[in-house]
Amino acid sequence: MTDGLIRSWIDSANADDCNFPLNNLPYGVFSADDGVKKCCVAIGDRIIDLATLEEAELLNSSGTFALDALNDFMALGTDVWAQVRAQLTDLLKEGGNDWLRTNDSLMKRAVLQQADVSMHMPFRVAEFTDFYAGRNHATNVGTMFRGKENALPPNWLHIPIGYNGRASTVVVSGTDIHRPNGQLKKPDDRSPEFGPCKRLDIELEMGAVVGTGSKMGSPVTVEQADSMIFGYVLLNDWSARDIQAWEYQPLGPFQAKAFATSISPWVVTKAALEPFRISTPEREIDLLPHLRDAGPMLYDIDLEVALTPDGETKETVISRTNYCEMYYSSAQQLAHHSSSGCAMNVGDLLGSGTISGASPDSYGSMLEMCWGGENSIDLGEGISRTFIEDGDRLTLRGHCQGAGYRIGFGECSGEILPARDKH
Ligand code: MN
Repeated sequence: MTDGLIRSWIDSANADDCNFPLNNLPYGVFSADDGVKKCCVAIGDRIIDLATLEEAELLNSSGTFALDALNDFMALGTDVWAQVRAQLTDLLKEGGNDWLRTNDSLMKRAVLQQADVSMHMPFRVAEFTDFYAGRNHATNVGTMFRGKENALPPNWLHIPIGYNGRASTVVVSGTDIHRPNGQLKKPDDRSPEFGPCKRLDIELEMGAVVGTGSKMGSPVTVEQADSMIFGYVLLNDWSARDIQAWEYQPLGPFQAKAFATSISPWVVTKAALEPFRISTPEREIDLLPHLRDAGPMLYDIDLEVALTPDGETKETVISRTNYCEMYYSSAQQLAHHSSSGCAMNVGDLLGSGTISGASPDSYGSMLEMCWGGENSIDLGEGISRTFIEDGDRLTLRGHCQGAGYRIGFGECSGEILPARDKH
């Protein structure tokens, strides 16, 4: 671990506002002109084709980087993750192993411009579970739906509440999303109608990527859970609030969330985030032993949400917050998830829950920013929004700020297209 920038011979990686310095090395899956998907890391404005380095016998990754997803590499476990990170750091740092830097043919094949490649889903999502672990968000939504007195459900301070979502519709940043159709019923309507969602929203979240699994019947401790997490992505849990309001009782969200979840293409590793660990907030009620904090397991990640309205090119940042607003860490969520004996798999994705700060300019959903439709967000030039309109683009960004460098997550972006015809 280091306190400062690790300088690379790839100059663009040394700029203090670069998302991808050598300290970061986030993993992704790319394709170049030939369309073949392979694993890569980002550094500066380049990507490194890891399958090519693997073929040149420079990495201990057992042939897993020529595959179209990170799952097999993640399954190799923590020792291999650390070895490969050390090997890559040595190959890319100033004054390190110059095997790559001085080999023209290898350079040409392995070091590509990010602008020249397409990014894909970085891993096959085994299963997707979404939590509700931000106290400000849960309090705000609870106040709107059930009143101030009953804002936090009685279980909230004891367990990270979650629901099993859909892995089938997790998509990579840049994928356009159709507005969902669903059953809608306003409080005074006698019966529901079926049609396009009118209250389409985002949820600003982080996604934890499970790198090694656990067996059915074998719960893991919070400490073990932390060691099972490979890394983190930005996650937008698109939400149809009107569909949700009608369907959610008593089993929680269903179609309101099942139509799409977007993630950023880069998995930022736990190793890169290590210097930015931070503790969960003070506990109002002690957690039961199996969920107690086992050290700082949140991270200091600055986050923002930007909205580019339909037909415009200029975006407006509508929220700024930080991942440290969560009440439960992903490790606690994973430990809770396994506590009944539920097996966890390589490639499981855990959504943190919406990350909201204490004030409207730091809320992680438009439902909260506009307080259930009572207010609107001013985007300038006479444009305002209460919920998302067709043609709007929503972009999440995040980074950890170090001394003279940052660990960036890149972007998680998606445009909303009109609803498909009803069938
Ligand atoms: Mn969510």
